[in-house]
Amino acid sequence: MKTTLPNPAGIISSAGAHALRCVHCGVVQATTDRMFRCHECSELVEVIYPEWSGAGREFGLRLKEIWRERKASTLPEDQSGVWRFRELLPQVDGKHIVTMCEGNTPLLRLTAAARALGLPNLMVKHQGMNPTGSFKDTGISAAISVARSQGFSIVCCASTGNTSASVAAYAARAGIKSIVLLPAGQVTSGKLAQALEYGAHVLQLHTDFDGCLTVLHEVVNKFPAYLLNSLNPYRLEGQKTVAFEMMEQLDWQAPDHVIVPGGNLANSSALGKGFLELQQLGLIRSLPKISIIQAAGANPLVRTMRENGGTELIRVNAETRATAIRIGNPASWRKAATILKTTGGACEDVTEKEIAQAKAELGAEGVGCEPASAATLAGLKKLVHAGFVKAGESAVLVLTGHMLKDVDYMLSDQVKRVYGPMDAAPATVIKTLETIYAGN
Ligand SMILES: *Cc1c(COP(=O)(O)O)cnc(C)c1O
Ligand SMILES: [Zn+2]
Repeated sequence: MKTTLPNPAGIISSAGAHALRCVHCGVVQATTDRMFRCHECSELVEVIYPEWSGAGREFGLRLKEIWRERKASTLPEDQSGVWRFRELLPQVDGKHIVTMCEGNTPLLRLTAAARALGLPNLMVKHQGMNPTGSFKDTGISAAISVARSQGFSIVCCASTGNTSASVAAYAARAGIKSIVLLPAGQVTSGKLAQALEYGAHVLQLHTDFDGCLTVLHEVVNKFPAYLLNSLNPYRLEGQKTVAFEMMEQLDWQAPDHVIVPGGNLANSSALGKGFLELQQLGLIRSLPKISIIQAAGANPLVRTMRENGGTELIRVNAETRATAIRIGNPASWRKAATILKTTGGACEDVTEKEIAQAKAELGAEGVGCEPASAATLAGLKKLVHAGFVKAGESAVLVLTGHMLKDVDYMLSDQVKRVYGPMDAAPATVIKTLETIYAGN
C-alpha cells in the first residue's frame, strides 16, 4: 500500500482498479460467485481500491478540484451525480456507463422542525429527487454499468418497489431486459406502475420481500440474469456518492449526525463507506454519527443491536405501512452493524403513528417524501429526547423516496383542509373562506 503520493495525477487514471473484500473474514478476492458472496465464509463483500487507499490528502485535494471542474462540463458522465466522482468508483469504460443524471439532489434546510427540536442546522438530503424518485437510482446506475461492461443482457431484482422502478428504467435506457420479483399486493401502485411503464417483466409472488429474495437466489444460480439487489457491492459504490455530494453542499464540513431509514440495511453502510473514504483522503476531519431508523414492526437491526450487540441477526416478521422498509431478514445487517459501531451512531425504531406524524410535519414545510423516509424525522425526535442528539448539533436526514411513490398512504389518512363538494357559486366559496379565516 502506498503511503505517499508524489504524483497524484499518476494514479487518477488507474484509481478505479478494485478488488472485493469479505466484510466478515477479510479475504480479498478478484471475483465472487453470482450472489456476491465470499468464497471462504459466504458473507457479503465490499469493493476496495488498493490503487488509492493509501494515497492521502494530496490526491484528495486534486479530486476535489476535478469534481468541481466537472460541474461545468456537458458530458453525461460528468453531469451524473454518481459518475462525476468516478475516481472513487469501479472503473467502467465510458461506453458502458448508463446514466440519467442521477444524484444532484437538493440539500434543504428545515425550519419548523428545526425550531421545535432546538437544532438550527437541521437539513434534509432529498434523494427522492432522483430520476425514478428514490436513491436506488444512484446504485443502479453504478451496478448496471458494471453488468453491461461484463456483457450481461438480462438483469433482475427482488424489490419492495423502488429497486424495481429503478432497475426497469435503467435497463430500458441500456437496452437490456429486466426481471423483477415483487411481493404480491405489497408494492404501492405508483412503484408497480413505474416498473410496468419501463417495460420490466414483473413477476408477483405470493410471499413477502424476504421470500422474493430467497427465490431470486435460486433463479440467479440457474438463469443468466445479473443480480441488482443491494447484495451487489457495486450498487453501494453508486449509493455512497451521496456522502460526496452532501459534503460538497456543506463545503466539506461534516454534520454531527446523518440519519437514514433501514430496510435491507445496505444504504446505511454505503453512506458510511462514502464518509470513511473522504476521511481517509483527508477531505473531512470527523465522521458524522450515522444513525439508522426502522419501523417498530420491521425492526430486526434494533433488536439485534439491543439483544446481542450486533453479533447475530434476530429476524422478525415485518409489518409496516412504510413498505420500503418492510423487511424482516435484512441481507446487509452485518455491514450496518459495523457502520453503527464505526461512526458511533444509534439504532432506533418508531411507531406507525410517529412516522405518519413526522411525514405530515415535513409535508407542512413543503417537503414531501414517502413514509419510510419520514421515519428519519420520527427517529431524530426520539434521539433528541434521549439526549443522543444535542441542542445545537447539526443533522442531515436522508429522505430516500419521493412523496408521489405512495399517494394512497396520504389519502387514506384523514384528509385535512378539504371542503365541499359545494355549489359552484362565488358567494358560496367566499362564505366558506370567511368561515375558515374567521378570527385570523
Ligand atoms: C430501499 C429503500 C429504503 C431502504 O434502504 P436499505 O438499503 O434497504 O436499507 C428506504 N427508503 C426507501 C424509500 C427505499 O426505497
Ligand atoms: Zn469471508
